[in-house]
Amino acid sequence: MGEGATTITEKLARERRLRLAAERLLEQKSRELFAANQQLAIHARALSEQIVEQRQVVASALSEAEALKGQNSRVLSELERAHAAAVMAERRLLDSLETIRDGFAIFDAEGRLVTANGAYLAPFVGQDEVAPGIAYPRLLAIAAHGGAIDLEGRAAADWIAAMTARWEEEHIATQVIRLASGRFVRLIDRRGRGGDTVCMALDITETITRERELEEARARAEAASRAKSAFLANMSHEIRTPMNGVVGMAELLCDGSLSEEQRLYAETIRSSGEALLHIINDILDYSKIEAEKLVLHPEPVDVERLVHEVAVLLQPRATAKGIDLTIDYDMFLPTRFEADPGRLRQVLVNLVGNAVKFTEAGHVLVRVVGFEADDGRWQLHVSVEDTGIGIAPEHLEHIFGEFNQVEAESNRKYEGTGLGLAITRQLVTLMGGEVWVESTPGEGSCFGFRLLLPAAA
Ligand code: ADP
Repeated sequence: MGEGATTITEKLARERRLRLAAERLLEQKSRELFAANQQLAIHARALSEQIVEQRQVVASALSEAEALKGQNSRVLSELERAHAAAVMAERRLLDSLETIRDGFAIFDAEGRLVTANGAYLAPFVGQDEVAPGIAYPRLLAIAAHGGAIDLEGRAAADWIAAMTARWEEEHIATQVIRLASGRFVRLIDRRGRGGDTVCMALDITETITRERELEEARARAEAASRAKSAFLANMSHEIRTPMNGVVGMAELLCDGSLSEEQRLYAETIRSSGEALLHIINDILDYSKIEAEKLVLHPEPVDVERLVHEVAVLLQPRATAKGIDLTIDYDMFLPTRFEADPGRLRQVLVNLVGNAVKFTEAGHVLVRVVGFEADDGRWQLHVSVEDTGIGIAPEHLEHIFGEFNQVEAESNRKYEGTGLGLAITRQLVTLMGGEVWVESTPGEGSCFGFRLLLPAAA
């Protein structure tokens, strides 16, 4: 039995060991399983949280997409509306441009026609080539060769070259052209923004016709005025001769033996006759200048001497009024110049005569200064200064007009024709100079004139 018992015991022990080992393994595996389960649960939770989150994201993305879709269709419809408005505005603009009588066109930066109204294209009727896209120089060529333009005797090529050169300028000059129909068109072309050129073709036929009519009317009026002045000049000349007779005879009469009363009458005839002669001489001069019949006769003149002669002539009048009449002739200025002595004397007599006439006390000063301007010519400044009644600023320009005198109480007692200064200005202008005046009422006046005279040997 011993050996058999041992075997059974051993077998049992081994089985027990095996069972124990199996139990341990089972225990370990179930521990592992538990841990794995736990891990799995954690994962599952995380996963489900993630799913919830994802769902939210998808939902909000979906609602956003929905909103965008709405916005998109709104933008689209707005765009459509804007487009329709733009088309409408363009049509309106073009329709309005069609209604105007003048031509209007736009060319792009390459000089190609973008759009033009009917008036602009009118000279090109029947020319199919003239349509948007045509280049400006080609348009010129069609206009010149197709007979739309009155080239006024110029060769078509010259006209096209000149017009193309004009078009290429940065600032295109305004140009008047004449159409074959006889109408005048003023072309005004301006560079616009972005290189476009905006062109206007204004029909100015009426303005030009009116201008021509006015021009003709003016020429007729001037001719009539010249004819009247010529008549006046002849008349004054004719009156002068018998008037000289009257004055001369009155002088002779005065020299004879007369009673007191007769002498008074004869003296009155003489002085009235002289006054009348003075007026007639003024009118004669003025009408001669107006009729453009007055010619200057320049010759060598001693200007200093001439000024002295004028002073000597007017000295008695100045002395009678107690006025100092003095001359200041620049000592560095030559005295001999080429000038018309008679006319220069007349200007001086007018100015110095007025200065003496309108001054009651003080002085009259004639000053001559000058400088050499260029090759032998001298700029002479002559001024006549007085301490007389002066002239109000509002009358300063007026007094140079014909028959114009200052209408004021202070002026009433002085006689005159109102022609002296008009003649003076005309004479000085005829000599190529200028007259001016400065004055303060109650203090005095200063009349001056400037002449450019060649020095004489
Ligand atoms: P007239 O002396 O014959 O009236 P003028 O043409 O010489 O004509 O002068 C026009 C007017 O200008 C004068 O009537 C006078 O009112 C004014 N005038 C001219 N010279 C002077 C002066 N030196 N001082 C003040 N007034 C003057």
